[in-house]
Amino acid sequence: MRVLLGSGGIGIDERRTLYQELMTENFLECERVIFVPFASHDYDGYTKRMQEFAGQAGYELVGLHECQDPLAAIEAMDGIYVGGGNTWLLVRALHDRGLIEPIREAVLQRGVPYAGVSAGANVACPSMQTTNDMAITMVPSFETFGIVPFQINPHYYPGGIWYRETEDGEFQQHFGETRARRVSEFHETNNTPVIGLYEGSFLRCTEDNFELIGNKAAVLRKGEEPVTHEPGVFLRGDLTAA
Ligand code: ASP
Repeated sequence: MRVLLGSGGIGIDERRTLYQELMTENFLECERVIFVPFASHDYDGYTKRMQEFAGQAGYELVGLHECQDPLAAIEAMDGIYVGGGNTWLLVRALHDRGLIEPIREAVLQRGVPYAGVSAGANVACPSMQTTNDMAITMVPSFETFGIVPFQINPHYYPGGIWYRETEDGEFQQHFGETRARRVSEFHETNNTPVIGLYEGSFLRCTEDNFELIGNKAAVLRKGEEPVTHEPGVFLRGDLTAA
């Protein structure tokens, strides 16, 4: 299996370059890669932006919404890239179109390379329950691809938030829940370990080996303190360091 999962947050040149390098490597030998734009409301616009961004990557991105027969397209294409946006919208569209099982099968059984950023990384997990997104639509089920055996919380940061009302204002503390607190609420009813990916970080995944690249990540387990890892670490499927 060849899978790349990212947090997003590639707002600076260094991170954009890393993203493009990792994507090119992930889809090396791929001629046509399916782009799944369903986390957005604007399938055409989103696909066009990603096609421009992929630029000289060496593969053609084809919007899944443009394919007459999505199941045949998944069979025929060399790679699958699921874009970010709202995870609820994405999960609903995947279930409504009957795409959960075919994409899981393509990646896990046939070894079709997969990349997912943010919402696209959320759906690589067993369920969508560790998304940060608002529930803007109903989903038939929280079940997602289960390509990796753990949960991801993208856009993770440690500690609380400090904010400024204006550009030159004073920093003030925001006393709302931290990400670790929200994940601990997930762990009230679930045992699956969660990896909180900092902005700009990626997991390069094979069957049983997960390499952290680009930025840090925190591993969060039920009833335990978060453990922070630096880029370069290799993790196992249970998120212990290899
Ligand atoms: N909204 C995020 C994204 O960009 C997903 C998340 O935060 O859970 O896809």
